[in-house]
Amino acid sequence: MSEKACHLISPPPASATQDTFGRVVDYLRVSITDRCNERCLYCMPEGYKGWERKPDHLTAEEIVRVVRVAAGMGFRKFRLTGGEPLVRADVPEIVRTMAAIPGVEHIGISTNGSKLGVLAQPLRDAGVGTVNVSLDALDPAVYRRITGGDLNAVLAGIRAAVAAGFERVKLNCVLMRGVNEHELWPLVLFAAEHGLPLRLIELMPVTTTDVLTEKNFMPVSEAMELLRLKDELIPQPDWRLGFGPAKYYQLKHTGARVGFIGAMTNLHFCETCNKMRLTADGKVRPCLGDHGEIDLREALRHASDDVAVRELLASALQRKPLEHQFRGSYQPCRPMTAIGG
Ligand code: SAM
Ligand code: SF4
Repeated sequence: MSEKACHLISPPPASATQDTFGRVVDYLRVSITDRCNERCLYCMPEGYKGWERKPDHLTAEEIVRVVRVAAGMGFRKFRLTGGEPLVRADVPEIVRTMAAIPGVEHIGISTNGSKLGVLAQPLRDAGVGTVNVSLDALDPAVYRRITGGDLNAVLAGIRAAVAAGFERVKLNCVLMRGVNEHELWPLVLFAAEHGLPLRLIELMPVTTTDVLTEKNFMPVSEAMELLRLKDELIPQPDWRLGFGPAKYYQLKHTGARVGFIGAMTNLHFCETCNKMRLTADGKVRPCLGDHGEIDLREALRHASDDVAVRELLASALQRKPLEHQFRGSYQPCRPMTAIGG
């Protein structure tokens, strides 16, 4: 080929899912419902009544269509979330259909675990690769105070998930000083005993609840100090246990793998962000901590081909902000349960 012809060949296109800051965004968190069978202090305001109307929720077909279009653009990882995704009866069917879509490399689920006892194996069989289970306490009374739920059902769910042979089961705990700080060490021991990574997450202002106070906010640095009183934390900068933003450490004596998600205090948190969100009512939200959303539902319901859906997804990607607004003027509007965790 002549040198001239060579110049005419355009450079390889940037990844179809690269944002304007050069981040590869290939992970879509798909909220399939804003409903939940628990009432976590940090997620849902007490007496919350802001539920979307049922007809405004995307149907299974609409969810799968968005996934198909996203996979065609280069999205590779998908996580079903909510609200509590397992309250939706068609979740195994949604997973099965998603798993057959070319380009879908990974399907995960985030759950409070209460229904995993029954659903772990069907979800594994349908094609779920990894499961994240919220577990904020091991004392049943503390667990109930935080979530309103039944710890025993969740522990049975975790056991079922381990037995079902997922690629990975992780535990998530939201840090709240004065609420569950005494639960951290028991959670570490539980995680070590069962060989499950535990992620400790800073409280984010994605809702308007009493727990969101300066007093209750526990930075990951403080959680690390608490754990250092018990064990040595060995940094594991090369560990990638999934696609999330956690920074992992191994505890020398217990062997526990603990990840810290410092969304509020880590000033570099957004630099490696790789995700967008789809809300249960069909909005694409490029950043959890920024109110910008683009509606897909109208296009899904009125356009027969996928061009408009693809354009809207691409436009959301281009609007992904450099960083979240949690440290600035962000005022919670839709709570976490409505946005999708
Ligand atoms: N119901 C499922 C569950 O509890 O895992 C999935 C949805 S939940 C909204 C997803 C994740 O968001 C959970 O790990 C939960 O702990 C986390 N989360 C909810 N509200 C939060 C907040 N205000 N700050 C930090 N994490 C929060
Ligand atoms: Fe429900 Fe999960 Fe929110 Fe708790 S964190 S109220 S389980 S959606």
